[in-house]
Amino acid sequence: MASAKYVFVTGGVTSSLGKGIISASLATLLQSRGYRVTIQKFDPYLNVDPGTLNPYEHGECFVTDDGAETDLDLGHYERFMNHSTSQANNVTTGRVYQSVIEKERRGDFLGKTVQVIPHITNEIKERMQILGNSGDYDVVITELGGTVGDIESLPYVESVRQVCWERPEDCAVVHLTLIPYLSAAGELKTKPTQHSVKALQESGVFPDVLVCRTEHEINDGIRRKLALFCNVQTDAVIQSIDAATIYDVPKLMKEEQLDKVVLKKLGLSYSGEADITSWEEFVYNLNNPKNTVDIALVGKYVELKDSYKSISESFIHTSSVSRCKVNLHWIHSEKLDDISAEEALKNMDGVLVAPGFGPRGIDGKLYAVRYARENNIPFLGICLGMQASVIEYARNVLNFEGAHSAEMDPESAYPVIDIMEEQKKITNMGGTMRLGSCACELKKGSIAHAVYGADKIDERHRHRYEFNSKYLADYEAAGMKATGINPETGLVEIIEIPSHPWFVGVQFHPEYKSTVANPHPLFVSFVKAVLKNKA
Ligand code: GLN
Repeated sequence: MASAKYVFVTGGVTSSLGKGIISASLATLLQSRGYRVTIQKFDPYLNVDPGTLNPYEHGECFVTDDGAETDLDLGHYERFMNHSTSQANNVTTGRVYQSVIEKERRGDFLGKTVQVIPHITNEIKERMQILGNSGDYDVVITELGGTVGDIESLPYVESVRQVCWERPEDCAVVHLTLIPYLSAAGELKTKPTQHSVKALQESGVFPDVLVCRTEHEINDGIRRKLALFCNVQTDAVIQSIDAATIYDVPKLMKEEQLDKVVLKKLGLSYSGEADITSWEEFVYNLNNPKNTVDIALVGKYVELKDSYKSISESFIHTSSVSRCKVNLHWIHSEKLDDISAEEALKNMDGVLVAPGFGPRGIDGKLYAVRYARENNIPFLGICLGMQASVIEYARNVLNFEGAHSAEMDPESAYPVIDIMEEQKKITNMGGTMRLGSCACELKKGSIAHAVYGADKIDERHRHRYEFNSKYLADYEAAGMKATGINPETGLVEIIEIPSHPWFVGVQFHPEYKSTVANPHPLFVSFVKAVLKNKA
C-alpha cells in the first residue's frame, strides 16, 4: 500500500485568513478527483482541548462522533468533506505536553532529559502521521493554527520541517498569506508575504504554494514577483480573492488550479479536471432561492456569531436544498429581559433557542419559548434550548412554580432538568460532560420519526444536565411528549408538543451533523414548517 501524502497549511502575516476554508476547499477538490482525504488541525494553545474555552475566545466548540471537543474548523472540514472526524483530527499543545509528561512519569524516556526537541517534536510528528498511517487516506491535510513567527508555533514548524526532510516525496507546504491593498497608493503590497515566507524559510520550511488572500485581482507582474522572491513556481502563486460565501471557495480554488499544483508536487495524478458539479448546484440553489423566511436565533453569545457556527451553516445547507433563503435574526437572550418577547419576535416566522451554559440570559430564553409556544410559531430548541422549553412548560402549563434546571437553581422545588447521577461526583471540567454520539429511539407518529424516516438514530451530545424523568408522566398528561429516548439509559432526548404546528426540542446537537452533501433533516423540516407558517 502506498503511504499517505501530506499537505501542511501554514498561515502568514495575520490570523483569520481562513486556513480552515482553504484546507477544506482543497480537500473537496481532491475528493472530487477520487482521492481519500482528511484534514487535521494542530492548535498551539495550552488548553488540552477547546471544551473549557468560552465561546467568545475561539467561537463554537465542535463535537465529533467520538466525543472530542474540538476547534470549530473541524466543523468546516466535516461540512465540506461529508465524513466524520475524530479526536485524532485535533491536537493542541496542551494535549501534546500532557502526553509527553505522562510518558515521563511512567519512565518511558529511560532517564533521559525530556526536552522540546526532540520529545515534544517527536510527539507532534507522531500525531501528524497517525491518520496517514491508518491506511484510510491518500492525502492528509494538516492545518497549523496560529501565524508563522509566533513563539508558540515554533515546535510545529520544526516538526513540519522534519517530516518534510524525512519524506520529501510525500509532502507539500501551502502557505496562506495576505496581500494587503493600500488604497492611498492604489497598490497591492507583497512585502509582508516576503517577510513571512522568509520567516518560514529561516526555520527550514520551504513553501511550495502561496495562497494569497486579497481584495483585488493579483496581476501577472505581482505573481511573478511573489514567485521570484518567495522561491515558488509562478503557477504555484494562487489568488484567493474575497468570496461572497465560504462555499464559493472550492470553485475559485479550482479556477486557480490549486488542486493540480498540489497534486503535481505530491507526485499524484492530476490529469483532467475536478468534477464539482454537485457542489456548484448547491451554490446555485443557495444563490437562487424561491422563498425567504425570517428565523430568530435566541442566544447569549450572539455578539460573536462564530459561537453558533454549526447552526448558521446548517441553515445555509437547508437554504440551498429547500430553495428558501433563511434570514437569521440574532437575538440576545439577555435583551429579552428589557424588550418584550413580542416586540423582538413578532415579525419572525420561526424561533430557535440556542445551546448554552449557565444562568446568564436564561430568562430571555424562557420568554422566547413561551412566545413561540403560545403563538404557534415553529420552534426548535437545541440542548439548553430544549431544556428551556421543558422549564417553560413546567412553569406556565404544569404550574410548577419555580421549576428550573438544577444548573441554574440547585434549590428549585421542581428540578425538571437535573444533573445526571454519574455527573454529581465529577469535579474536573475538561472532557467530562456527556459527549459524542448516542443512540436515540424515535416514537412512531412523532415529528422526529417522520423527519428522520427511521426508528433509531445517532446524534452528538455535549451537556451535563438531563430531562428529569420523574416528571415525565406529568408532561405527557399535559401535552408535551417525549418522542426520542436513549435505548440504553432511558434518558429523554427529544420532546414535542403535538398540539402545536411544529415544536421540537432536542437534547443533542443536530447542527454538528449537517453537511453540504447531507443537510440535516431536522433543519430541513423546521424550515419547511417555518415557510408554511409564513404562508
Ligand atoms: N448547560 C446545559 C447542560 O450542561 C446545556 C448544554 C448545551 O446547551 N450544550 O446540560
